[in-house]
Amino acid sequence: MRKLQSATRASFGESATDMANDALCKAKKRYRTLTSGTKAPKAGDEPSAKAPVIYWMSRDQRVRDNWALLRAIDIARANDAPVVIAFNLLTKYLGAGARQFGFMLRGLRELEGEAKSRGLHFTMTFGDDPAVAIDQLAEKIGAKAIVCDFSPLRDGLAWRKSLASRCESRGVHVEECDAHNVVPCWEASDKLEVGARTLRGRLAKRYHEFLHEFPEIPDGLAAYEGPKLDDIEWDKIIAEALERGQAVPEVTWAIPGETAAAAILDDFVNVRMRLYESRNDPVKPQALSGLSPWLHFGQISGQRCALDAKKACGKASPKAYESFFEELVVRRELSDNFCYYSPKYDSIEGQKYDWAKDTLRIHAGDKRPYVYTLEEFERAKTHDDLWNAAQRELRYGGKMHGFLRMYWAKKILEWTASPEQALEFAIFLNDKYSLDGRDPSGYVGCMWSIVGVHDQGWKERDVFGKIRYMAYDGCAKKFRIPDYIARVNALVKAAKSDFKSGEKSSAANPGLFKINVGSKRKAGEA
Ligand SMILES: Cc1cc2nc3c(=O)[nH]c(=O)nc-3n(C[C@H](O)[C@H](O)[C@H](O)COP(=O)(O)OP(=O)(O)OC[C@H]3O[C@@H](n4cnc5c(N)ncnc54)[C@H](O)[C@@H]3O)c2cc1C
Repeated sequence: MRKLQSATRASFGESATDMANDALCKAKKRYRTLTSGTKAPKAGDEPSAKAPVIYWMSRDQRVRDNWALLRAIDIARANDAPVVIAFNLLTKYLGAGARQFGFMLRGLRELEGEAKSRGLHFTMTFGDDPAVAIDQLAEKIGAKAIVCDFSPLRDGLAWRKSLASRCESRGVHVEECDAHNVVPCWEASDKLEVGARTLRGRLAKRYHEFLHEFPEIPDGLAAYEGPKLDDIEWDKIIAEALERGQAVPEVTWAIPGETAAAAILDDFVNVRMRLYESRNDPVKPQALSGLSPWLHFGQISGQRCALDAKKACGKASPKAYESFFEELVVRRELSDNFCYYSPKYDSIEGQKYDWAKDTLRIHAGDKRPYVYTLEEFERAKTHDDLWNAAQRELRYGGKMHGFLRMYWAKKILEWTASPEQALEFAIFLNDKYSLDGRDPSGYVGCMWSIVGVHDQGWKERDVFGKIRYMAYDGCAKKFRIPDYIARVNALVKAAKSDFKSGEKSSAANPGLFKINVGSKRKAGEA
């Protein structure tokens, strides 16, 4: 099958029109045009025939299973034109440090090799206004079409809008393609959903259209032969990013890139998914998939995770699979829905419902049992050993256990002077230390915990009002707090020693996740 799909165009003698008709990204609703008065170049169009097609990669940093890349290839194949994958590197982004930049850049370095092996050219642009940089690249190489990744976050929306307006005047066609969600965000719903309860059914009605296998990237794509694009000086770029972001060093356990992502997925679905029903027990972190850093950077597709989990369902249990699917697809896509339709997604006004805003306002003057500064939170200097351990897991491991993320954020609400400050601190710490931070799921996680987004009103109490409360005693009934703290202590010790030595000790890995890259590379090569 792979052989057949990858047979070159020449060997089949297909015309450009035949190739174009056999679209790789078949679901037209997965992408949409951002420029007015332009059309994607078609077979035989002159003079733009053979003009390179740019895939501006941003949120979905992978070659495999990528609808946006497949769409760019479709446009290019119509005219036997090359595809240039462009990634714009910012020098700063929402508090990201060496931890996040290192993970991303090392993943991209692997990606460049993978792209090359598929006949795709990868290039990098630089600058804190990506719209300008991508537009300049398009002018330089004479591209007539650009496909962008979709993201519901405000920077990405503004950059794509700006790129489209720059390109429009030159007749360059710009599209965005949602390669991150199973059901494209704008197709899943045209409004802000109340919660998982309302989105779940809408998504389920669309799986037959969108939740299916990805086609292979065909061989025989036209090679890029336009103006020379600079070689990427990876060592220099990575060293500079690590230097700039040294306040938050890289974690050694999280191997970046598509190969590692596939390995961790493989281990999860085939070995650990059966444990998923224990996912709320922080003493058993292996029950979690551990996939969020790779999903966040788009080094793996959520749809791939869903398809592989389904295939391996028999090795776990239908319940474990269904719970995983609910988190991976419904909750994750609900986060995109929230950020897309509530542009103030990271502030209290982003909560649509008055009950939550009113209750927080009414209780804003309540006496707090403790009030901590940002620094005290950051350094895990609260009176609560469980909270401190969770914060240390985040700071030294780069990933806090999912259950404790809720407790952690709710306690920030309880121990700060105002809900506004609580939200600001929670988002700041999450984005600074978490490998998966600056993600819609992060904003929604903080908004759920502190502002009651996607939740309902609960019994009224001090400070929280009707926002759901979580208690230390409740945690003590659910899991063995001393065991969790002991695990984090071991993690911190190992991580501190790894930061100094560059070694990679397994205890520094917050989920003891196995990432067998060697076996994946061999399997991929075979
Ligand atoms: C205060 C707070 C902050 C959070 N910050 C982030 C963040 O910055 N980035 C992030 O990706 N997630 C965040 N979450 C959501 C969730 O906790 C993480 O996705 C999860 O812990 C990631 O670990 P995992 O991949 O091992 O999870 P698994 O349980 O194995 O889940 C698999 C995938 O499903 C998705 N998912 C799981 N739970 C949720 C959820 N509640 N909401 C949306 N998607 C979910 C994620 O993509 C996750 O990778 C936050 C939650 C809270 C309460």
